Amino acid sequence: MAYKKTEQYEDEITSGLIKSYGEVLGLLGEDPEREGLKKTPERLAKAMQYLTQGYHLDAKAIINSAKFHEEVSEMIVVKDIEIYSMCEHHMLPFIGKAHVAYIPNGWITGLSKIARVVDVFARRLQVQERLTVDIRNCIEETLKPLGVAVVIEAQHLCMIMRGIQKQHSIATTSAFTGEFNTDKTRAEFMRLITSGSKP
Ligand SMILES: [Zn+2]
Repeated sequence: MAYKKTEQYEDEITSGLIKSYGEVLGLLGEDPEREGLKKTPERLAKAMQYLTQGYHLDAKAIINSAKFHEEVSEMIVVKDIEIYSMCEHHMLPFIGKAHVAYIPNGWITGLSKIARVVDVFARRLQVQERLTVDIRNCIEETLKPLGVAVVIEAQHLCMIMRGIQKQHSIATTSAFTGEFNTDKTRAEFMRLITSGSKP
C-alpha cells in the first residue's frame, strides 16, 4: 500500500510563526542565523501546526461518517490507543495511552474511528482531564450508547523535565457515563484494560 504524505500549511500562518520563532530563538540567547538553526523556525512552524491540527477536525463528523445500526449490547473496548498531546500550560508533550469502551444502544462505529477521535482531541493544546471528557462526550453524543468509559494514563514532560522532576509519575484520569457508573460494569471494564493479554 502506497503511503503518500500530504501535509498542507497555510502560508500566512506559517510565515507568521517562522518570524515569531526566529525572535524566540534570539530571546533565548541563540543566534537564529547560525547554520544549524537557519531552518528551525520553519520546521517548528510546521511541526506545531501538525501537532495542533485537531482544531480543524470535527470528531463528531468522523463518527457520524461510519455509524452502523447493530443490535449488539456487549461492551466494546479499544485499549492502548497511543496519545501524543501537549499540555496547554507549558506547551510540552504529554504521552501515554487511552482506553475507551462503550455499550451500544443500537448504533456502533468502526474501531479505527474511536482511535481517530482520540487523535482529534489530543492534537490540540490540552489538559489531560479535559481530553478525557472530550472523548467521552463525543462518543456519548454521537452513538447515544448505554454507557461510555474513557481512561487515560499519561506522562507529562512538564513534570519530568522541569519543576518537580518526578521521572516516573503517571497521571490517570477517567470519565464515565451510564452503565459504567455501576460497580459491576466499571469493574469489568477495568479488568479488561488492565489484563496484559495481547493477541
Ligand atoms: Zn504542563
